[in-house]
Amino acid sequence: MATMYNKKSIEDIQVSGKKVLVRCDFNVPLDGEVITDPKRIVEALPTIKYLKEHGAKVILTSHMGRPKGEFNLKYSLAPVAAKLSELLGCEVTLAKDVIGEDAKSKAAALKEGEILLLENVRFHKEEEKNDPAFSKALADMAEIYVNDAFGTAHRAHSSTAGVADYLPAVCGYLIQKEIKIMGDALNNPKRPFVAILGGAKVSDKIGVINNLLDKVDTIIIGGGMAYTFIKATGGKIGISICENDKLDLAKELLAKAEAKGVKFLLPVDNRAATAYSNDAPSLTCDSNNIPDTHEGLDIGAKSVELFKEAIKGAATVVWNGPMGVCEFSNYEYGTKEIAKAVVESGAISIVGGGDSAAAIEKLGFADRITHISTGGGASLEFLEGLVLPGIACLQDK
Ligand code: AMP
Repeated sequence: MATMYNKKSIEDIQVSGKKVLVRCDFNVPLDGEVITDPKRIVEALPTIKYLKEHGAKVILTSHMGRPKGEFNLKYSLAPVAAKLSELLGCEVTLAKDVIGEDAKSKAAALKEGEILLLENVRFHKEEEKNDPAFSKALADMAEIYVNDAFGTAHRAHSSTAGVADYLPAVCGYLIQKEIKIMGDALNNPKRPFVAILGGAKVSDKIGVINNLLDKVDTIIIGGGMAYTFIKATGGKIGISICENDKLDLAKELLAKAEAKGVKFLLPVDNRAATAYSNDAPSLTCDSNNIPDTHEGLDIGAKSVELFKEAIKGAATVVWNGPMGVCEFSNYEYGTKEIAKAVVESGAISIVGGGDSAAAIEKLGFADRITHISTGGGASLEFLEGLVLPGIACLQDK
């Protein structure tokens, strides 16, 4: 059974005049002090604007990178404060610390509609330990807690879950959108429901495959993880990536699919090369007959046709993981073709973070996808049916 969430949001609580601590995911890519992709900041704006417009005193908190529990200005949120000020058209003040004197006095002095950003919450090692005293110190600065960081919702840290022990806790618009769209797809999907899974390893996605087998009509497996399944069915996979300790499990998943009447599609042909490299000599071959000297690096044209046929008729598509080594230009074909098929299907489409989302964005298709999740790991855990601590801790409606 998928986890059902029906959580209170910022619209279900009186925020006017209140100090509201908002956990965002401002973990943006930086080149020096320049933000190279502000997407995560942009995604957080609707919640921040709502709170500002409704007269809240807004205290933002986020992590950035891995400062390993120490104050290190290399990981300062200063570039984020500047970007937020620019995007919101008002000053966003950066505190010099997280729970120190500067943060506390600036939070206490906030007026309605003003916005304060605390320094990188991972400057304190207590954050990732979900230390109760640290959670309480964060909570003491505010009267309401809002979690809007879907990307870290699968982590039980102080700022993503612990603070909810001390404050009324609700979700922001971003988390609300993520759990509504993915929850509807899992619990009440428009059918046919097709899941497409790829990426390097079966072991990373066993739980997801297992959970989705109870819900979908068709499951498509591509990428490196397909070879473990192909070997399990007696195919010759050459030197393709394979998890030999997962062959029995692959067989069990195939048997479960059969028992449930779920169509389980594996690649039928591949582009394979003599080495894991863009330029090594390569050929096209059947997926169950890859030469001993070659490893599969992408799906072939016949597989693309087979997968497209299934995707074409779908009403709901969930996709996580590339069909091949899409970082290599010679092996991005399968991933790109599947991205095209997903947008052309007209289905409700949900794409997990990471390489599949990047492929969609590279093709300029992002606005034709119903929902690109802002959390790679969190969306996988959601699809796996696991409880996400950063959401479970929020008040039920
Ligand atoms: P994941 O993070 O599990 O979604 O895996 C993404 C990674 O899987 C990408 O870096 C791809 O290069 C890799 N990958 C996809 N197909 C293959 C393959 N056939 N052989 C090796 N690695 C692959």
